[in-house]
Amino acid sequence: MTVRQTAFWAVAVPLAVLMAANDAHVHGQPFDELRVAPSTVEGQEPIDQPMASRSGIELASLDRTAEPCNDFYQFACGGWIAKHPAPPDQPSYGRFTELQDRNNAILRDILEQAAQPSSGADMRQIGDYYASCLDQATIESKGLAPLKPELDGVAAIKSVADIPPFVGHLHTQGFGPLFGFGAAPDFKDASQYIATFGQGGLSLPDRDYYLKEDATSSQLRELYVQHVTRMLQLAGDAPDRAAANAKTVMQIETALAKNALDRVALRNLPNLYHKMSTDEARKLVPSFDLAAYLKAAEAPSVTTVNVTEPEFLKGLDQIFTSTPIDDLKTYLRWHVIRAQTSYMPKAFDEESFNFYGRALTGAKEQRPRWKRCVDSTDSDLGEALGKVYVARTFGAEGKERTLKMVEAIEAALDTDINQITWMSDDTKKQAAAKLHAVANKIGYPDRWRDYSSLQIVRGDALGNSLRSNVFAYRRQLAKIGKPVDKTEWLMTPPTVNAYYQPFENNINFPAGILQPPFFIKAGDDAVNFGASGAVVGHELTHGFDDQGRHFDQQGNLRDWWTPADAKAFEERATCVADQYSGYTAVADVKVNGRLTLGENVADNGGLRVAWMALMETFKAKHLGNADGFTPEQRFFIGWGQMWCENKTEQMMRLHARTNPHSPGRYRTNGVVSNMPEFQKAFSCPATAKMVKQPICRVW
Ligand SMILES: [Zn+2]
Repeated sequence: MTVRQTAFWAVAVPLAVLMAANDAHVHGQPFDELRVAPSTVEGQEPIDQPMASRSGIELASLDRTAEPCNDFYQFACGGWIAKHPAPPDQPSYGRFTELQDRNNAILRDILEQAAQPSSGADMRQIGDYYASCLDQATIESKGLAPLKPELDGVAAIKSVADIPPFVGHLHTQGFGPLFGFGAAPDFKDASQYIATFGQGGLSLPDRDYYLKEDATSSQLRELYVQHVTRMLQLAGDAPDRAAANAKTVMQIETALAKNALDRVALRNLPNLYHKMSTDEARKLVPSFDLAAYLKAAEAPSVTTVNVTEPEFLKGLDQIFTSTPIDDLKTYLRWHVIRAQTSYMPKAFDEESFNFYGRALTGAKEQRPRWKRCVDSTDSDLGEALGKVYVARTFGAEGKERTLKMVEAIEAALDTDINQITWMSDDTKKQAAAKLHAVANKIGYPDRWRDYSSLQIVRGDALGNSLRSNVFAYRRQLAKIGKPVDKTEWLMTPPTVNAYYQPFENNINFPAGILQPPFFIKAGDDAVNFGASGAVVGHELTHGFDDQGRHFDQQGNLRDWWTPADAKAFEERATCVADQYSGYTAVADVKVNGRLTLGENVADNGGLRVAWMALMETFKAKHLGNADGFTPEQRFFIGWGQMWCENKTEQMMRLHARTNPHSPGRYRTNGVVSNMPEFQKAFSCPATAKMVKQPICRVW
């Protein structure tokens, strides 16, 4: 369990990235689902490729009974939606997950070969890891024995003074109690890593789950307490004791949640920069021996740290001084028991699914074991697996074609920045300099990660996972005080995803995303620009969204905007936030326009610059009609068909609260309704629903 990305086209800087070593997400649990996994790439025909037309549009995915000017999402995706209900094990199913399914087959094939005794030395680790993960009989027979050292460690705690060193030890193993600690770029000197403390220690996906008063939230809290009760019973507590302990866990986590910032506040990156001396940090939590913690956490000697949420640490001090030691021990024991359920006896694994799968996401079935084991191998040994994957599927050709498209989109954004009317020349000059400094990382890393010091033992699934955590944690911590390595990747090569890294000012496209429906090798420019071209534009625009705009061309937190330009940006961004806040996510829940602002700005800007790049190609050759559509229409259909999806109601609620991306329907309709070019392409009357007046436009 290393980095869990929590979104596609992610980053902008969730703490999962900042605090990679201590990310609290857990194997096999549903919010991993947001991290979309592997796929094939161009250069090889994917298995079971959907029937695409000559142009690359999926005609069968259209709903021709829908009026494009009235509900473009339904028009572009209605056929797909009807034919692809969310499978019982996938509460959220869309184009990304569809690719993941196809790709899983390839990764499984690689891993099954690697697991053969005859496989070569370079395949040994991934093969042993995968085989151990599949070997449920051995996992069952070991029971809780692999966790005994940590459980004994909790039992041995006698006083509050014993807790900091023990928590430090747990963090090295990837357990996530109380808070997060790791290496992150120094916001104001992004060339250097600095030791960083962040909020954490929760078991529900977000602080709001502990605090919201609506009926669904209260019911989920009840189910959560029942879940903790059953897990503690499985671990040996008598029923009454387990129930009382579960309440204790709930109390402590609720107290932590109250001190935590919500997700909208977390988007305000300048507010997460509090560089201070370790002495000053110590004063925030006087009752918690920070020096003892840092020593046990194997931190290098540091004199300065960044505390992303100082109020959270202050609150921690209160919790520490007011909570009985036995209650704190119960909380720590829970965090040991909950974190590795995929590698624990079946009863734990099933109970974990019962809550995190069934209750939280509406999944009806656990994902097949092999799929979960593919995911965890990718998560723990991603560049070892990715190296084989890339050798099989991604060639120099793939890299070259992508770079060409990236350059076309960058040129369009350059023109766009030059043309916009609301920004002064001074700020434009800075924006252009930042754009020109963006580094393009395509496909896979130049240097592969060396896992040779990581011991993978056949038949020791849980041990393998813990040692992988230690390996990842130490790798992170070794960065503290060192220069940032901009060649490092935060996603593995087979990932169907992409990201912009604001601290490094680079865009990253793993090999996994360049295939249908995002990039159709035999498709026409119109569809490809509307799909993968817009993905490229989206990532570039993140450098200039509500988060990215605070960083300069070197990735440093620095205000390069004139006050008037910053104000103009805010006004335009507010238009977008208000637009999306007006959309209904599900039943009584609206889209959170502030949580999704960066992604919506990137979607709108991304499709606009992709459009401009397509218009540029028209200067050389005008495309004709195909499949009954003009090239302009095909461009928009290419965009819409990336976002077809089906989700359970539970998943829609979960996403509305935690996912910085809007639902697929609004990623489609929200953007096209801001584009007069769409109105023209489909000859929409001014009164049509897909014609917004006035439009919102930032970039
Ligand atoms: Zn994005």
